[in-house]
Amino acid sequence: MSRGFGPSGGHGRMKFDDDNKKTNLSKALLLRIAGYFIPYWKQTLLVMAVLVVTAVLGLLPPLFIQQIIDQALPDKNMRLLVLLVLASLGTTVVSGLLGVLQNYLNSFISLHIVYDMKNQMYRHLQKMPLQFYSGVQQGEVITRMTSDISGVQGVFSNTVVNFASNLFILASTAITLFIMNWKLALLGILVIPLFVVPTRKMGNISWKLAKQTQEKISEQNQIIQETLSISGYLLMKLFTKEAAEYTKFQTVNEEATSLQIRQSMAGRWFMMVLSTFTSIGPLLIYLYGGYLFIQGELSIGAIVAFVALLGRLYGPVLQMTNLYVDIKRSAALFERIFDYFDMKPLIVDKPEARSISAAGKDIVFHEVSFAYQADKTALHGISFTAAAGTLTALVGPSGAGKTTITNLIPRLYETDSGTLTIGDSNIRDFTLESLRAQIGLVTQDTYLFNGTIRENLMYADPEASEARIIAACQAAYIHDFIISLPEGYDTVVGNRGVKLSGGEKQRISIARVLLKNPPVIIMDEATSSLDTASEYYIQQAMHSLLQGKTSIVIAHRLSTIMAADQILVVQAGTIVEQGTHQSLLEQHGVYRDLYDKQYEPKVLT
Ligand code: ADP
Repeated sequence: MSRGFGPSGGHGRMKFDDDNKKTNLSKALLLRIAGYFIPYWKQTLLVMAVLVVTAVLGLLPPLFIQQIIDQALPDKNMRLLVLLVLASLGTTVVSGLLGVLQNYLNSFISLHIVYDMKNQMYRHLQKMPLQFYSGVQQGEVITRMTSDISGVQGVFSNTVVNFASNLFILASTAITLFIMNWKLALLGILVIPLFVVPTRKMGNISWKLAKQTQEKISEQNQIIQETLSISGYLLMKLFTKEAAEYTKFQTVNEEATSLQIRQSMAGRWFMMVLSTFTSIGPLLIYLYGGYLFIQGELSIGAIVAFVALLGRLYGPVLQMTNLYVDIKRSAALFERIFDYFDMKPLIVDKPEARSISAAGKDIVFHEVSFAYQADKTALHGISFTAAAGTLTALVGPSGAGKTTITNLIPRLYETDSGTLTIGDSNIRDFTLESLRAQIGLVTQDTYLFNGTIRENLMYADPEASEARIIAACQAAYIHDFIISLPEGYDTVVGNRGVKLSGGEKQRISIARVLLKNPPVIIMDEATSSLDTASEYYIQQAMHSLLQGKTSIVIAHRLSTIMAADQILVVQAGTIVEQGTHQSLLEQHGVYRDLYDKQYEPKVLT
């Protein structure tokens, strides 16, 4: 069974390493990129128009200079001279103004595309199943959301605009040169391959060096992260690996440094070669143009204008050669983003899914099997009924599959075979929203986001009144604790505020679920041992929480097990025993064994 997300499929996790993938600038990719411009087609057209006008305006000053040399100066015509100088100035000013407009439009379009993509990505990632998040590396999602998507901005405001601008400058200049004198134009153009070829080569070399440097630097960062974080540091110290780690770091550091030196030197040599070749063009023009002048075929002004215009030919050619690498890099960036967009959320509503109530209904597992990975079954043949309004306790060794059973109910994962029904409805007939709205989940590691206690509670119900919040906290036996804090319900929790103990956090999370008041409760009791007072409060809080609800609790405490209407003993993905505390004790089986071994520390598992 395949649980891949990407278009490429795969097992269990998605393939993220696309660094080595060959990026093809396929038509499909270009079309898809172009799709993002559609909402901004007016602005895009305007940018292109501005670029064309700017390209044409750029041709004028050299032509004015030609007029100055060939007309105004020989004729000693002061009026014409001033007029031409003013015209030159005027063109420059207008070009500058157009540049400002172009800059505004660039930012407008590129930032709006980034905005659209970020929203689209966020929405998409919200729909990805839990499995996706357990498969990706930490930080991966943030990188895609931030630097990858932001990189797109540069693609438009640099790559696309530069490409178009250079293309227009190149075309308009080439046409003008040919009109002025086709022989000279041809000569100027013949030089182009001389510097294009080394530029291409150089582009590739520096691209490779940059990539290698990047790899070395990330290797270096990894060493830093692994050895200079709390747990890594401890490991290094306790195993006295400082010297070895230092040597490793030093080696990578040295390699990175030498790569960087090579990179900067490669650039220098290249610039030297390049400036030699680009100056050959003008020299040839002076030589051959001078000859034509002597022959009386060409004016001095034309030679000067020609050389000036030549710069407008070589500049764009050079930039476009470098752009090739940029374009490839941009395409890779888009591919990385599109790879994410192409991952299909596996768990979605069926077309005919309805909003169904779970209140007062039994939860029934029938021959349910599930595997996280193709060759490793986590659950097989799980059948049981959690009757409406009763408490089912799951016990068993760690890794037995208890959490997996509970994760299937809100469809955080999808069963592979068998059926899971609530009342008469398969859980797949529920809309995901209605299913999850009716399930309260209290996990072992309670997650409280960085905000006030009140904000954390109101996450369950943004409309909750003060009275309801207090009632829920009282029922969860946490109210007295909260009001004992200097800022009461407005106390900020998490890394900016008070640190709460595990027991307190779990009680807040119980209060949060009480506010949501769903008919089904799934709870993973905390395994950490609590002092007697906390233990008592948690028990009372749980009592409030589970009352009248259909509850499935991964039980670690004897009190919970004793209170359960039924106990399921899970081992290696199956239910091996089932009954009440008393009946199971009498069976003298797995449960009895667990009980005998672990009763004393009051913690089962
Ligand atoms: P329990 O809750 O009883 O400790 P779990 O349901 O967490 O057990 O785990 C059951 C089995 O599934 C274990 O072998 C565990 O390693 C495996 N497992 C749990 N979560 C994942 C996951 N996200 N991906 C792959 N395997 C998993």
